[in-house]
Amino acid sequence: MLTRLKAKSERKLAKQICRVVLDQFDKQYSKELGDSWNTIRDILISPSLWQYAVLFNRFNYPFELEKDLYLRGYRTLQGSLPYYPKSMKCYLSRTPDRMPSERHQTGNLKKYYLLNAASLLPVLALELSDGEAVLDLCAAPGGKSVALLQCAYPGYLLCNEYDSLRVRWLRQTLESFIPQPLINVIKVSELDGRAMGDAQPETFDKVLVDAPCSNDRSWLFSSDSQKAACRIQQRNNLPVLQVELLRSAIKALRPGGLLVYSTCTLSKAENQDVISEVLSSDSNIMPVDISGIARTCSQDFTFAPSNQKCSLLVIPEKGKAWGPMYIAKLKKQKKS
Ligand code: SAM
Repeated sequence: MLTRLKAKSERKLAKQICRVVLDQFDKQYSKELGDSWNTIRDILISPSLWQYAVLFNRFNYPFELEKDLYLRGYRTLQGSLPYYPKSMKCYLSRTPDRMPSERHQTGNLKKYYLLNAASLLPVLALELSDGEAVLDLCAAPGGKSVALLQCAYPGYLLCNEYDSLRVRWLRQTLESFIPQPLINVIKVSELDGRAMGDAQPETFDKVLVDAPCSNDRSWLFSSDSQKAACRIQQRNNLPVLQVELLRSAIKALRPGGLLVYSTCTLSKAENQDVISEVLSSDSNIMPVDISGIARTCSQDFTFAPSNQKCSLLVIPEKGKAWGPMYIAKLKKQKKS
């Protein structure tokens, strides 16, 4: 009976896959990723295989839930990363289990945030320390801002988001997870990220550019196929925007500061090509080797082979259904 129900719900979900998007991905990704696209594809089109990580909120720690998750076979994300703050606790399910999301209640901090575990890698790659000035350039709905605050107490955190509706969502996320005294070091702005460099030049020790991108998982399930076709057509414009956002972020970074660029697409044009373009056109920017993350995290994540040492691409696999997530790390040279 259960198997029949599962098959029925899988058929229902399968119907919602947007054909235009899948055809485009088949064409592009089989060229870019070869045979591994078939495995990745199987995961992406089967939401029943997706996994959800549970990031604990250190400001309202769920001790009871921790015991429960142990009993349900969850385990913590490997703490053997080169940089892994003790204050960050994230539990991963071995199977495609999904905890219910908590409801927003004014005045009550939420205890956990559900996320794709690969979303933590860009945050960890920033190696945050207490007191630093940090910019989250494309911040809504706020998952990575919340994760940043699990790692350290920044001296100043600017969460920026261009879309005014999503800014509301961002504010609500921050209010739901972060206690008032810390909220005071966080500012929310609504700038076009491309203007941030001129607005706040050489201000930040660390910058995260979690860029608008093709968002492979959600595009595959677009309910409006006309809109999806339109997006596919305009997809070629994304790398231009991504390079502009990166250039602005670099301006906002102080000399010696670190920047992490991330996307949740497999698309080479929005990942490696964007980073190559920035590296080849700005002699102040140096790649930072992050291959150590791939070596120490291979138990939890699968990475695509890469010829860029400053970047990683997490690809979904059964039992490690995290990603897609591209992460690149750059450093702005100190002035001599
Ligand atoms: N970092 C977020 C998180 O972890 O919850 C997800 C960010 S999402 C991948 C990219 C965000 O960039 C979207 O909310 C989108 O509205 C925003 N965005 C799009 N164009 C932008 C721009 N020109 N400047 C700043 N943000 C922009």
